[in-house]
Amino acid sequence: MTIYWERCDWCGTYIGVKRCYLQPSDNICPTCCILCRKRSECPNPAWSPWLKTAKPKKTNIRIKSKI
Ligand SMILES: [Zn+2]
Repeated sequence: MTIYWERCDWCGTYIGVKRCYLQPSDNICPTCCILCRKRSECPNPAWSPWLKTAKPKKTNIRIKSKI
């Protein structure tokens, strides 16, 4: 699986991103993937492998939505 190092299309953070399975035109960061409302119904979340190794704490998640 390829990881791109560019801007997240959802939150604008410059970080390693992966192509969203549900929206192939978008590159998303781990945070956005985790917070995605469709994650529960996504058959292949882009960042599922990452989630198995790192357990994000909701209190530490920061989204730059004011960009
Ligand atoms: Zn993001």
